[in-house]
Amino acid sequence: EDALRLEKVSKTYGDKVRVAALDDVSLALPYGTFTAVMGPSGSGKSTLLNTASGLERADSGRILIGGQEFDTSDETAATRFRRGRVGFVFQAFNLLPTLTVWQNVLLPARIAGITVDKRRARQVLDRVGLSDRLNHRPAELSGGQQQRVAIARAIVTRPALLFADEPTGALDSARAAEVLVLLGEAVREYGQTVVMVTHDPVAAAYADRVLFLADGRIVDEMRAPEATGVA
Ligand code: ADP
Ligand code: ADP
Repeated sequence: EDALRLEKVSKTYGDKVRVAALDDVSLALPYGTFTAVMGPSGSGKSTLLNTASGLERADSGRILIGGQEFDTSDETAATRFRRGRVGFVFQAFNLLPTLTVWQNVLLPARIAGITVDKRRARQVLDRVGLSDRLNHRPAELSGGQQQRVAIARAIVTRPALLFADEPTGALDSARAAEVLVLLGEAVREYGQTVVMVTHDPVAAAYADRVLFLADGRIVDEMRAPEATGVA
């Protein structure tokens, strides 16, 4: 059983000019793997992430998370299905500006009805290097720190599957490296499965598998050699 499975998934936009954003994509991602998705602008990377996570509906094909197919036609049911199973990290950190770091990490889970162990939350914040920033608000933090809050928020409930769309897109290379190391740790230490869209080959090098998209299809794929593993 895979963390994520796509079977012949297609998605087309537009009524008059039909644009195939995803064209018959099949994919299996085992648990505890780190996959990067690359490809030119418009190749379908975001559509892949959004349909795989059920944020957007595919036109055809099957999507299974943890071996279970879920009903993307029912938004409430899809949200309930994702809860605790799926986490998201975006390029724009999407933190709540009036809340502290601690609240930003704990509140979304609490609203979703997930009980988060406070000790675990403190461990995660310690791990992302924010233990001394718990009562700061996002505006008082650097971009890298804000993204680390977003990652803490995404992993605090230990979702088996973590989707990251350009998580380092707004960061300089040093801050980007910190974030990538954290994602790698989520994979290797907690067995989480990460799917990361990136334009940056340096970022993609942290993954153990790189998929290349073009015109909505997976046209190439690369695996990291076992010996080197994740950087
Ligand atoms: P990428 O993330 O690789 O840049 P996208 O998944 O955003 O690619 O887009 C794939 C294709 O689908 C592009 O041709 C894009 O123009 C089209 N597309 C994406 N989202 C929409 C939308 N909401 N409406 C119409 N076309 C869209
Ligand atoms: P509840 O609302 O469930 O009572 P709180 O979030 O108010 O939970 O706080 C409960 C515990 O969470 C505190 O005793 C403390 O251990 C931890 N905690 C809360 N806020 C912070 C913070 N800003 N920094 C560190 N730990 C905190």
